[in-house]
Amino acid sequence: MKYDSNNIFAKILKGEIPCNKVYEDEHSLAFEDINPQAKIHILLIPKGKYISMDDFSSKASIDEFNSFFRILGEIPRKFCIDESGYRIIANHGIDSHQEVPHFHFHILGGKPLGPLLVKKN
Ligand code: AMP
Repeated sequence: MKYDSNNIFAKILKGEIPCNKVYEDEHSLAFEDINPQAKIHILLIPKGKYISMDDFSSKASIDEFNSFFRILGEIPRKFCIDESGYRIIANHGIDSHQEVPHFHFHILGGKPLGPLLVKKN
């Protein structure tokens, strides 16, 4: 699968559409999810053109990789949910229902989140 440079997060990175930014550095951007599923719902994305975790984990540089996962742990502390708890989720591919084909982690917290998945057959 080829990276689609017109996906919505690519447009956010290019400054073509706005976001509520909460963090930015050389390799990563974090912003509020437009349709929050919890009191705190932040999306963390790499600035590089990676479709999903599969792509990122096989192609990202050590620098990008280290920096990204360091920030993934820092954002919950920034929002003071490291004590109360949080959930991080990354969707990959059709079965996961990934909607935006630019790699991202969802960081959810600020209230009890309930079970991870509701079982459906
Ligand atoms: P996923 O299903 O894992 O690809 O999640 C995509 C997420 O992106 C959803 O939670 C959407 O609410 C969120 N989203 C879509 N468009 C925007 C946007 N313009 N700004 C912020 N979040 C967005």
